[in-house]
Parts: sequence; structure tokens; C-alpha cells
Amino acid sequence: MATLCSGDTFSQRTGMDFTLTKYGELIDAIKAAGYQFMTFEQYLDSAKLLEDKKIVILRHDVDKRARNSKATAELETERGAVASYYFRVVKQSFQPSVIHTIATMGHEIGYHYEDMSLCHGDVDAAMRHFIKWLDYFRNMYPVRTICMHGAPQSRYDSRDLWRSRPDGQKAYNYHDYGIIGEPYFDIDFGTFLYLTDTGRCWDGYKVSVRDKIPEHQDEWIRRGWSFHTTDDVIRALRGESQGEPLPDKIMFTTHPQRWSNNMPEWITEYLLQSVKNVVKRILIATR
Ligand SMILES: [Zn+2]
Repeated sequence: MATLCSGDTFSQRTGMDFTLTKYGELIDAIKAAGYQFMTFEQYLDSAKLLEDKKIVILRHDVDKRARNSKATAELETERGAVASYYFRVVKQSFQPSVIHTIATMGHEIGYHYEDMSLCHGDVDAAMRHFIKWLDYFRNMYPVRTICMHGAPQSRYDSRDLWRSRPDGQKAYNYHDYGIIGEPYFDIDFGTFLYLTDTGRCWDGYKVSVRDKIPEHQDEWIRRGWSFHTTDDVIRALRGESQGEPLPDKIMFTTHPQRWSNNMPEWITEYLLQSVKNVVKRILIATR
């Protein structure tokens, strides 16, 4: 294994992906390609004025190891980028000091909700849980956007809170609670390309249970917008890939827990995700 002595050459020395260094290279490539960074709420506030602008929304789903998100937030701030950070209510994600620090850097904070899974599919209990936790978050940040946690091991899809109900009751509407957007409902993926590191690669739609946009995936593949490594994405941003030029609007979703320059942490994430991908393939095959 190569000697790891300099942070800024870590990825190059080792050829390792999903390091903080590699994440910095990705942010630099997005900037160099002429994209402007906006948080999800900033974008929704002025979407009509941005139709011919190149916009990237950096979305972070903080599933666990919340402190890692401080590192990505600092890296973004150093590079003049803003991002949207979504935190869960479980203790490995909901860490008020981390949330507060990231908010003071100018990033957006949102609720990574999974109330349907936590309340075992009881829609009304899940809605009460949602309102209670939204209030907690709003003690730290005036939360205006939310984003579903995929919870692949759960049989419940938390987006069902907002969908028509089998019992005939009217579905809940997050707009009634001061929420202006949920990416899966309020982003036009006919305009936005969606790239996510789910599965610890950029073509994880093959193993993802819920974090994917199946309606558009075939079209994106046809255009050559399916990537495996972060270097593949960077090459496309530089116009060095075989595919069509990337569109003017992209949402990147990353999970900060897996972007680390800490070797034991990096190896743990690598091994765990390899096992999880096998399990997810089985889950998808048996649904
Ligand atoms: Zn999540």
C-alpha cells in the first residue's frame, strides 16, 4: 500500500475513490464546468429565473457518522460551494452540535424522514412523529425541505405519507407544514440529471431499492450518463467522456459517511457496502 503522508495527494497515490480528496476533486470539476451551486431551497425559491443557468444541487443524506458531514461541509465552504444536508432522527445522524455547525457555515439543513418505517406503516402515527421531529429540527434551522430516507431493509416507503391512502382518507400534504420541497416530488427529472453514490458507486441504481429515478434512468443511460467511479463523473464534467455533454441541471446525492481520508473508516465502509450491495440485489430480486 502506498505511503499516505499528504492529504491532498491521497487519492492519486492510492487510486482510492470515495475519499475526501476525491470529493474535493469532484467539487472542483463541477465548478470548472461552469455550474453554480445552490441549496435545494434556494433553487426552489427562484427556479423560474434559473431555466437557462447551469445549476448543481449537492444533496447529502446523513444516514450515519454525522461528524463526517462536518468534513464535507468544511470542504465545500472552502471552495465556495453550498449544499443541502438531510439528517435522520436516529442518534448516529441527529447530532445537534454537528447540525448547528453545518448550518452556521451557510448550508441548508433538512429532515431525512423515515417516519413510516419508524411507525411500522401507521400513517397517522407517522404524521404525528413527522410533525414532532420537524419542530425539533426547526429549533436549529428553519427547515423548508425534506427528503425521504430509503430504508432498504424496511417494507414501508416513507413517501407514502404523501400519497393516496388505501383506507380512503385524504393523503397528508407537506406544504401544509411549511415545507416547500421534497426532491422525489418537486424536482423535474426530465430537466435534472440525478447522480447518487448509493451503493458506493455512481451507477448504484442497479442495487438501490428506493433511491433511484427509474422513469428516466434508461434515457440517461442512452445518453451516456451512467458512471461507475467518481473519476468517470469528473471526466464527463470535463467533456472527456463518450456520452453526450452533461445537462445544465444536476442533483448529486452523496452520503458523507463514505467519503473519508481515514483509512480504517474507509476500509470499513468499503467492506460493509460490498456486503450490503449483495443483500440489496437479493431484496430487489425477491420483491
Ligand atoms: Zn438515507
